[in-house]
Amino acid sequence: MGLPIHFVVDPQGWFCVGVIFFIWLYNTLFIPKLILFPRFEEGDVSSVAIWSYYAASLFCVVSLLRASAADPGKLRESPKIPLTEKEFWELCNKCNMMRPKRSHHCSRCGHCVRRMDHHCPWINNCVGEDNHWLFLQLCFYTQVLSGYTLILDFCHYYYFLPLKSISWDLFVFRHELALLRISTFMGILMFGGMSSLFYTQIMGILTDTTTIEKMSNCCEETSRARKPWQQTFSEVFGTRWKILWFIPFRQRRPLRVSYYFANHV
Ligand SMILES: [Zn+2]
Ligand SMILES: [Zn+2]
Repeated sequence: MGLPIHFVVDPQGWFCVGVIFFIWLYNTLFIPKLILFPRFEEGDVSSVAIWSYYAASLFCVVSLLRASAADPGKLRESPKIPLTEKEFWELCNKCNMMRPKRSHHCSRCGHCVRRMDHHCPWINNCVGEDNHWLFLQLCFYTQVLSGYTLILDFCHYYYFLPLKSISWDLFVFRHELALLRISTFMGILMFGGMSSLFYTQIMGILTDTTTIEKMSNCCEETSRARKPWQQTFSEVFGTRWKILWFIPFRQRRPLRVSYYFANHV
């Protein structure tokens, strides 16, 4: 089957993804080099701390790349609509195609997306039914990585004893301190931004409401039956296995075949 790559042509979006990727690369290169390896040699941290940092970094970049390159749920041309499900479909007046209800036309990408949440410039892609789970993982692992980075920056400077291998007086005049300050600044920005985004995303899933529906104050959610949180999360992640909700190295399959997935094999 292979992994289909979804690519949105939008230079502004490429720039935003580039910024996020740069922040990730910066911390993944400098934090181990400046803090973790020297601190490990002096016995301040164990090898588990280093492995954990690289693991958080890997999970973060995989969810970023996958959320960015995954098909968010683009509608196929001329879908076959079963007669019994006709009432759940509507016509998009922008692309003149039938689409399941709760789909939305993204003007940035130029097509309709099933259960679209929003268009995110930071991943240069829509967040829709098929990649919402990757977007949530990205928010989660970015918080983990930036939170971990902030703790390490703090401990390195204020908590651990000065490194024996370098002169502390020289340290403040050399590039290490500047690099750490930049890392702290980016860490605060990423942790703050991602925490609030993650909170609104989680609240949206708990109430089974997309960001677009919330912003347009759409009335449909009130008419929908309230589902238990396990159900709404399982539908987003495509599995009831909670441990898999945290794993970006897998393929998502729709939980059950319903009108949402009728045209999606
Ligand atoms: Zn459309
Ligand atoms: Zn879009």
